[in-house]
Amino acid sequence: MECNKTSFATLAFANWHIKKIKKKSKQDIIPTRAYKCGYCGAYHLTSKENFLEKNADLEQENLSLKARVKELEELNALLSNKESNKLVEQNTNLKLKKKELETALIKANKTNKELMQNLINANLKNVEIS
Ligand SMILES: [Zn+2]
Repeated sequence: MECNKTSFATLAFANWHIKKIKKKSKQDIIPTRAYKCGYCGAYHLTSKENFLEKNADLEQENLSLKARVKELEELNALLSNKESNKLVEQNTNLKLKKKELETALIKANKTNKELMQNLINANLKNVEIS
């Protein structure tokens, strides 16, 4: 059976022709794909979308997006874990610093008490002398 549409012997040649048209044509509707004709066996061009193919493409895209989301979720969990480890470390450092300061404060209080005692003793001696 003969078709009125432009025929191409091979898919490669049909695709090459589409590329050429895309580059040069200023028409609104340009062919987007080639298909094998069920009547004449040759390849024709069409601008109609192949919804089955598009659906398969979208499903593939959906799968890779899901994989990407999972990847990002894992990364997020890892990061928040790291962040929380950092905070725990900072907290530990602060606790150590607090302990150091408390020890120094106790020491200072002790010294202060000793000095006060010395001062009291000296005053007492003063009173005794006078
Ligand atoms: Zn045909």
